[in-house]
Amino acid sequence: MGRRGCESSSRREKEVNQEGTIIAKMKACKVCHYLTAESMCPNCKSTNLSTSYTGIVVILPGRSKREDPRLSSYVASRLNIDKPGKYALKVR
Ligand SMILES: [Zn+2]
Repeated sequence: MGRRGCESSSRREKEVNQEGTIIAKMKACKVCHYLTAESMCPNCKSTNLSTSYTGIVVILPGRSKREDPRLSSYVASRLNIDKPGKYALKVR
């Protein structure tokens, strides 16, 4: 009984770790803060990427794809983000 409980809890930890690994592989662009798993930023084509960053912000697309997120999102306007996507708050 006790053992079975242990097994299920360790399995759950594994799932959390897998998610953590995906995020850890992401690199933040030093220019526009865009988060990517590629070696080049798809947003501004910079290769100046950093694995050292804190905070993640996700900017969702507006009602129309061409809508500037800065118009509807306070966070996007503060960070001056004009395209939806995942961004790092601070890049070192
Ligand atoms: Zn960039």
